[in-house]
Amino acid sequence: MSFLLPCPHCGPRDVNEFGYQGEVTVRPKSAPTLRELTSYLYFRRNVAGVQREWWFHRDGCELWFQAERDTRTNEVLKTEVARASAAGVPGPAAPAVPEPPAV
Ligand SMILES: [Zn+2]
Repeated sequence: MSFLLPCPHCGPRDVNEFGYQGEVTVRPKSAPTLRELTSYLYFRRNVAGVQREWWFHRDGCELWFQAERDTRTNEVLKTEVARASAAGVPGPAAPAVPEPPAV
């Protein structure tokens, strides 16, 4: 399987340069029930169609970003850097673009 995945920073690259990190999920509330927590940790939608996913440019700029990909055709419809502060967008606690090291 090979297709082009456009990194928001580097542009289109072979998908083998990236790490797939799973579909985007929604974190449960601050005090989830055991059922909500189990569902969040172990169950995925696994849709046959357009799915929003986390990707990591492992062999490039090391940017974490989200892509909308059709799982049936591997057509990538959109990629964008996700911000944790954006409304309704779950994401890492740290900024998606890592800060340069202080020297
Ligand atoms: Zn990149």
